[in-house]
This record gives sequence, structure tokens and C-alpha cells, in this order.
Amino acid sequence: MNFYDDTIAAPATIPGTGAISIIRLSGPSAFAIADKVVKLHSGSVAEAKANTIHFGTIFQSPSEPLDDVLVSVFKAPHSYTGEDSVEISCHASSYIVQTALSLLLNAGARMAMPGEFTRRAFTSGKMDLAQAESVADLIAASSESAHRAAFNQLRGGFSSELKELRAELLEATSLMELELDFSEEDVEFADRDKLSGLIAEAFAKVSSLADSFRLGNAIRNGVPTAIAGPANAGKSTLLNALLGEDRAIVSDIPGTTRDTVEETVNLDGVLFRFIDTAGIRESSDTIEKAGIERSFRKVREADIVLAIADICKSPLADLSMIISHVDPSHQKLFILLNKSDILSAGSPAPVSDVLSAGSPAPVSDVLSAGSPAPVSDVLSAGSPAALAKDIETKTGFKTLAISALNPADIKAVKALLSSEMKDRIGEGGQTLVTNLRHYKALKEAQEALGRVREGLDAGRTSDLVAQDLRDAISALGEITGMDISENEILGNIFSHFCIGK
Ligand code: GDP
Repeated sequence: MNFYDDTIAAPATIPGTGAISIIRLSGPSAFAIADKVVKLHSGSVAEAKANTIHFGTIFQSPSEPLDDVLVSVFKAPHSYTGEDSVEISCHASSYIVQTALSLLLNAGARMAMPGEFTRRAFTSGKMDLAQAESVADLIAASSESAHRAAFNQLRGGFSSELKELRAELLEATSLMELELDFSEEDVEFADRDKLSGLIAEAFAKVSSLADSFRLGNAIRNGVPTAIAGPANAGKSTLLNALLGEDRAIVSDIPGTTRDTVEETVNLDGVLFRFIDTAGIRESSDTIEKAGIERSFRKVREADIVLAIADICKSPLADLSMIISHVDPSHQKLFILLNKSDILSAGSPAPVSDVLSAGSPAPVSDVLSAGSPAPVSDVLSAGSPAALAKDIETKTGFKTLAISALNPADIKAVKALLSSEMKDRIGEGGQTLVTNLRHYKALKEAQEALGRVREGLDAGRTSDLVAQDLRDAISALGEITGMDISENEILGNIFSHFCIGK
């Protein structure tokens, strides 16, 4: 069945970067238009059986062939869009693709808008909106975990959870609304205890889906991982080592990384977004102070914080400033005592260095931060490993003594990061919400269900409770597109796709 009366065309691949390009054509005249442009070596596209592939030639003029191509024929409703569709595979030269496309446009097709093929798939009921959105995510996924989340959504895992929830809430609403028809008789079709139980369950389910957004978003866009520490501790060196390439500026002059630098890297199937921050220290320079405040903000916003300090320079004083900005209820902090190569080499920084190192927090401060090691301890604690153990005991945060210049240590930091995320992601069976639009709708549903709960507890009348239930249902319906009729919202969603999707 065709929901649209025009036929659209666009390249589905990027010309010039591979051996083959595919041009898509979808709509009621797809077969007729294809027949005008491609001469099949036997028969015609219009007569072809559904789901078959044919050899043919595109002619740019009656006597001049452009390319030999393969034509895949999909008959409605068994196609991606649900419409009659044709995919032409040609050689990936931009000249061939552009010429073939203009021939198709001259033959009556219209250039597709961004995401229009997927929008047609949604309109014809081939997929719901959450699934349609996951197509863009699947194509953009650059790590195993992001791919898994998008593929699960495309397969309909998230949609079916929502469908079940919605069905249960609809059942409850219809019972409550039935009561309204019999309001004079004062009957209760919806058993209030059962209803409360159902709402509590739905509330918990919606809340857990909404809560999964923090992780889902991190997986999709890269787990925000702040690298924070005093100037010259080795933050940029660490970032570069983690990225395996030189991106941030490395220098000996304290305070060079004034702005934050962000880079993503895929570690063992999870995308991390590393944020190198300005050195944290007491400063009277206005610009530097602003940079330091921004560093603290980045620390507060991160999911994981790598607090790095120079092992030779009273690390606890520096670390305690960072620790005070971390909320362990939802953030993970790892302490990295850097430059342990210097300490192991048996020439620790002289005491004067330790005391003068960029005016660290006064000793009283250090001591008040959970009674950390006094400066003399740094020197007496012996090996970097012993010092790390000591600091780990005192702060309660996992601590590694590393050298950012040593590949084996960088490997250990990477392992720490990926095992942290592996623990959070678990087996990957659960649904993760990755889309901000879905998250907002879930929060709306959660609020509405909260009001339903209050209404039931307060013994409010069915009509009031039913209205809140309807709000929750409609918010959930927005995610899959059941309750979306406005063209503007759909237009906005699909405009983020690229042409040909
Ligand atoms: P940032 O200000 O914290 O970003 O520090 P940088 O990464 O710019 O490093 C400051 C200086 O310390 C540079 O000269 C680095 O080469 C040096 N450095 C960084 N990490 C180590 C390390 O593990 N061992 C040694 N010996 N030097 C290091």
C-alpha cells in the first residue's frame, strides 16, 4: 500500500568511498521510473517478481551506456519503506551516481529529504518511531555497546516493553472510565488495591527506564570521563596516551591547558569521552580561575573522574580538592598517582619541591581531608605501590601508581575504565534509553503516574485519576509515535537523519 503519491530517490551510500553505490527509489511509480532509466537484460522492473535482483544497463543517451548495474526489486509491503521500492547498485563513482540520479529525477522521481525513506517506513507501519530513530543510532554507533543498544531498540525490545506497559495502563483506565458511566450507582470496577499495585509496578518500570538514560546516553555519546588534577601532573600526557595520538597540548609550563579538550576513544567496546581539564590549583589569574572553575564543573558532570596527581608532590592535598566535587552516589573516582617512574628511580622530589609545588593546600587542610598522609609520609611511604595503597586506604578510592609515559600503566588504566563500564552495562540484556526525546517522555509519564498514585492514596474520584492515567499513556505513546500526529515533531525527528536513510 502506498501512503504517499510521489516517488522519492536518493543515494543510500556515500559516492566515491567504496566499490559500489546504491541508489534508492521508493513510491508508487518506483517501478515505472526505474524502467525508464535502466534497461534490464531480460524483462522489465514492472514485470519482475518481488524480492528479486536483475542485471541491467543505465543509458545516459539512447546510444551511450553509463554503467552496468544490479536492480533489486521490492514490492509493497515487503520493502524497507513498505512501498514499491527499487535499489540500483552501480559503481561508486560520483559521476555515475549523480548522472543516474538526475536521470531518475528527469523520469519523474523527486529527490528525497533527510530521513524520508525511514519516515515512510514509520508511516506505513513497518516500524514505530522509537525503532525508526534507532536506525540513525545504529548507523552512527561507533562502539559495540552503542551498537547493541541501538540494535536492541531497532529489533523492538524497547517498543515491546512500552507496549506492554501501555496496554496495562489502558486496561486500568478503561475500568476507571467505566465507573464514570455508572457513577450514580457508586460501583468500583477497578479494584483499588489491584490498581495501586499495578500503578506501583508501572511507576517502577518507567522510573527504571528513565534512570537507564544516564548510562544509555553515556554509551551512545561516550562515557564522560574527566581527567582532573593540578597543573603539570600529567593530565595531557595521560589523555594523549589514552587516545594513542597527540591531541592535547603537552608542555612543562603549568597552566597550559586553559580550556577543556574532549576526545572520544573506543576502549574494549565502550566509547569514552575524555575531558582534559585546566590544572586545578590556587590561582589569582582571572582567566585561569575561570578555567579552574570550569574544571570543577566538568568533574561534577562526569560519570568517571580520573583524579591525577604528581606522586612526588603532596598528592593528597591536590586530590582532596577534586574529591570534594565528586558525588560517589553516581560518579566513580579513580586516583592516579603519576610520575611514579621518578619515585621508583629512587630520586623522589626533594622536600622543598613537595612543599613549594604550586602552593598546595596547607598541611592543616590536608589533614582535615580525612587525615591523609602528612608530607613526610610521601617520602617515607617507600615504593609507589605502597603509597598508592596508603592513599587508597585513606580516601576509600581505588588508587593506582602509574607513569603516563609507561604503556603498561596506560593499559592498566584502560582496563580499570573498561571493567567499570562492563560492570555497569552488565550482560547487555536490559533496555537502555539512549534518546533524549524518549527520556523526556518517560519523565512525563513518571510524573503522571506519581499523580495517579497520590490520587489513589487520597481516594480521589475516578475521573481525576483517569485523566492522569491518560496523560501517562499519552506520554508513553509519544515514544513509539502512537500519539504523535503533528507533522512538525515528525519533521524535526527525521530532519536529523541524512539523505538516503
Ligand atoms: P598537565 O599540565 O597536567 O596536562 O601536564 P602535562 O601532561 O603537560 O605534563 C607535564 C610534564 O610532566 C611534561 O613535561 C610531561 O612530559 C611530564 N610527565 C607527564 N607524565 C609523566 C610521567 O609519568 N613521568 C615523568 N617522568 N614525566 C611525566
